[in-house]
Amino acid sequence: MPLPMSVPHGPPGPAAVAVGSTAAAGATAAHVAARPPAYQPVTPALLDELRGIVGPAHVIAGDPEKLEAYSHDEIAEPEYARMPECVVRPGSAAEIAAIMKLANRERVPVTPRGAGSGLSGGAVPVHGGIVLLTDRLNKVLEFDRANLTITVEPGVITNEINPLVREAGLFFAGYPMSLESCSVGGNVAENAGGGKAVKYGVTGRYVTGLELVTPTGEIVTLGGKLSKDVTGYNLIQLMVGSEGTLGIFTKITLKLMPLPKASADLLVLFPSAESAIAAVPRIIAGGGILPTALEFMDRTSFMAACEYLNETLDYQQAGAMLLITVDGATATEVEAAYEAVGEQCLQGGALEVYVADNHTTSERVWKIRRNIAEAFKVRSPRQSLEDIVVPIAAIPAMVTGLLEIARKWDIEIPCYGHAGDGNLHATPVMNPAWTDAEWHDRLPRILEEIFTLTARLGGTLSGEHGIGHKRLAWMPLFCSPAHLEMMRAIKLALDPHLILNPGKIIPPPAA
Ligand SMILES: Cc1cc2nc3c(=O)[nH]c(=O)nc-3n(C[C@H](O)[C@H](O)[C@H](O)COP(=O)(O)OP(=O)(O)OC[C@H]3O[C@@H](n4cnc5c(N)ncnc54)[C@H](O)[C@@H]3O)c2cc1C
Repeated sequence: MPLPMSVPHGPPGPAAVAVGSTAAAGATAAHVAARPPAYQPVTPALLDELRGIVGPAHVIAGDPEKLEAYSHDEIAEPEYARMPECVVRPGSAAEIAAIMKLANRERVPVTPRGAGSGLSGGAVPVHGGIVLLTDRLNKVLEFDRANLTITVEPGVITNEINPLVREAGLFFAGYPMSLESCSVGGNVAENAGGGKAVKYGVTGRYVTGLELVTPTGEIVTLGGKLSKDVTGYNLIQLMVGSEGTLGIFTKITLKLMPLPKASADLLVLFPSAESAIAAVPRIIAGGGILPTALEFMDRTSFMAACEYLNETLDYQQAGAMLLITVDGATATEVEAAYEAVGEQCLQGGALEVYVADNHTTSERVWKIRRNIAEAFKVRSPRQSLEDIVVPIAAIPAMVTGLLEIARKWDIEIPCYGHAGDGNLHATPVMNPAWTDAEWHDRLPRILEEIFTLTARLGGTLSGEHGIGHKRLAWMPLFCSPAHLEMMRAIKLALDPHLILNPGKIIPPPAA
């Protein structure tokens, strides 16, 4: 018997339109995501077959308390959660292939899950069925110094890579801020970006090889250890960022970079959010130095993180801060770089420029930046962490617009993020005087104003957290009907029964 679905099905806002309908089995291009096939429940007979594939110890079923942990990711709002019927923990690509064949035969949806740190509901099984956990695929398979690559299984925690390769003078540059709690498979599936993306780019830039299991249960190898490869369509980059909807990664080869010998962080104080953000294009375009990282924190954001960490920074009078990293081959080169960047900041109206050139001080300021999302989650579950991205030169207009929207609706919209990439985590937080019903009524309209402004400035919906099912309903604002049709056609070609992570990324076609 399927378990009772006690966790609500889909969010209350616009995303609710995108999930939950059923129709006859078998889909056509027009049906993709609009009318998923009538999925079948996970029966006792199917559970027995799954136990036969992965071993009885690696199937969780019939225990709502244990299953609940797999009903959500790190989105704060409980409305996005959905219970799986069972969780399976395969130990090899062959086992995953067998599970996918079975799921296709039985028309049961399968949702891949790494470490569950996602922020768009990607690992949430919106149609129930099987959650396929990759935590047992956690081996580093090969560190190839000669070719500057490392090959890992998808369940390896991202933070394990750099300590392994540091002694060889190398590093993996494409990791996100959540590196201690996310998996490499999840990073590739989300094309995660992080603190070093201004200079080094995001995860996808470093993926040179993938082994994956297709939605129909075939094992396919793409690429390898090559620096260049134009042999046919670039399927690796199609898979990167596909959020577990086109294949399940089982081996990942990542390119490594020479580890910079020196680096320093600047904590730069500005009187206001507007002045801080206005300095961003100036720093990137004006100083001849491309920082490694360029992070923005408005006052509400850094104060929330300081409170959460019980940290007492000396500089809390500032209206906003930029946290900037520069790196290079020598200390002298780095010193020249941070002086040039500091000068740009002062000319742009900075109150103070502090240099953190030792690990302890650097770690202290980065810890504040890394903990903002957690701090807001503790403060209020009634919030919506967004991930908009605009061209760098449009960031000042975006931040000014966000402040106007916040004033108009009488709410806080704390704003922080990877300003050097134009990627801002604007987070509308419920006015405490509102009821939950008022929040649910108003949030879609607040988001519509934010996203309309983002689109008008040439920006888009998500820079790194992905669409999942949280942002599904907003896709038509950013992708034309023809663009969405291309995505539907790709999905259907690879996953004819819409078994793999249905209800994500692609919204239903307009009725
Ligand atoms: C405090 C905090 C800070 C964060 N900072 C950042 C940041 O700086 N940059 C950033 O980009 N993100 C950030 N995130 C979001 C999150 O950590 C990333 O999206 C991360 O890449 C998710 O990895 P995961 O292993 O937790 O994936 P999960 O949440 O388990 O899954 C995410 C998606 O990947 C798919 N997936 C997982 N494994 C596989 C696989 N083997 N094959 C195919 N699909 C798979 C899932 O189906 C799902 O769609 C942050 C999150 C938190 C909570």
